[in-house]
Amino acid sequence: MIVDVLIAGAGGAGYPAAFRLDKAGLKVVMADPKGELGGNCLYQGCVPSKTLRELAHLYVRAKKLLGFNETIPFEKAQDHKDFVQEARFKQHKQELAESSVEFYKGEVEIIDNHHAVIKDEKGDVQVEYKYLILATGSEPFKPKFPGSEYCITSDDLYKYRTSIRKLPKEMVIIGGGYIALETASIMNALGTKVHVLVRSDRVLRGLDSRLVSSLLSMLDKNIDIRFNSPVIEVQKIGDKDEYKVIYSEKSEKKEISADLVMLATGRRPVYPKGTEKLGLAIGKTGIMVDETIVTSVKNVYAPGDVNGRAMFFHSAVRQSLVSAHNILAGTPIDYMDFQSVPISVFTIPSIAYVGILPEEAKRRGIDIIEASYPLSKDSRAQMYDEAEGEVRLFFERGSLRIIGGWIIGIDAPTMINEIGTAVANGLTARQMANYADQHPMSNESISYAARSIF
Ligand code: ADP
Repeated sequence: MIVDVLIAGAGGAGYPAAFRLDKAGLKVVMADPKGELGGNCLYQGCVPSKTLRELAHLYVRAKKLLGFNETIPFEKAQDHKDFVQEARFKQHKQELAESSVEFYKGEVEIIDNHHAVIKDEKGDVQVEYKYLILATGSEPFKPKFPGSEYCITSDDLYKYRTSIRKLPKEMVIIGGGYIALETASIMNALGTKVHVLVRSDRVLRGLDSRLVSSLLSMLDKNIDIRFNSPVIEVQKIGDKDEYKVIYSEKSEKKEISADLVMLATGRRPVYPKGTEKLGLAIGKTGIMVDETIVTSVKNVYAPGDVNGRAMFFHSAVRQSLVSAHNILAGTPIDYMDFQSVPISVFTIPSIAYVGILPEEAKRRGIDIIEASYPLSKDSRAQMYDEAEGEVRLFFERGSLRIIGGWIIGIDAPTMINEIGTAVANGLTARQMANYADQHPMSNESISYAARSIF
């Protein structure tokens, strides 16, 4: 088959480009071994984990505000998660049916930089392409240590129709990134006793330390986070789901018993077989791309997790569209703004941030003015009795253009989008202060924060 564009992977980095290029009349073929659109995000990542997170949050609120005291039916929560995933699989099938994109269930293997083979269930499909979009995403990184084979990853907990349908009594999570903390929050809220073993002395490495310490001070104290506690070994006890996690703390060997042990030790890019034949430049985080999302080989684009520059679905979607626009034009006409990608940590409560935060501003020599508003004054935060936290905006001194912001507390992942739009478009403090944010929604706190400096 001769096509204009071959797309490997049908996640957030794959299908938006497929539909955009198809709409413009190009012949597009896309393949993914899952046989579904949506990638890991939908199959075992953001959508299922955030579904459980919403249910867990409902439960926490019902207990706190209405005295609800039943235990949560975890199986029902997992059923609802599967239902949401199914609804989205169906929606994507419909979108596919309405397009001329040819979709195969199978892996792409690269032959050279104009030829590949799709290993479809019904047999090999030879493809000759002008452009290749490598959108093969990422997978959990699993360090090897004695007993590591007994550990699950977030994929196992959140995947479609997972076999984990009984709420664990006691769970150990190994890692200190956002997946570890989110899962800890969710499972703790649902009723599991959660221990988090962090190898170093901090979580969310690389993130502004003021933001990290605010989050840590707000997390439920029942979550047992142990720093400087590298894992040595996981042992299985008997033939049931019972494990002993042995770790070291201040050079002493310690242990915790658990009925579920999860590794959350980062994600790494996935390259299709034969990728080395393309001779692409590969960097520390993945396939190297510039802001036009082209690789070092000019007919190959690599949007999304596979380049490791901003491993989030929404970032992948935008990068996918940037790739499509540049392929269509045949010359760079669209650029990814990696700086304005909003990022949330969906703990309970959550945090979210975007742009340049104070520690980075200092490193770059940017002088900033901070504007803030405490959520204790916000009406919606009061409605939920979740008045801890703040909105904080960072403006460049002089121009008063916003370069970044964070939200700690209620609705952070929803509200950050407004700040992100402001950062992406270089709005000034005055423009933000003059906007009539809707009452009685938490967004009001954003314009209140902007007004605090006038
Ligand atoms: P992104 O957000 O960057 O799209 P995801 O990890 O969500 O990343 O999606 C990547 C998709 O690529 C997954 O659905 C995965 O099954 C698919 N994939 C991985 N390897 C291949 C391959 N060799 N050929 C086709 N698809 C692949």
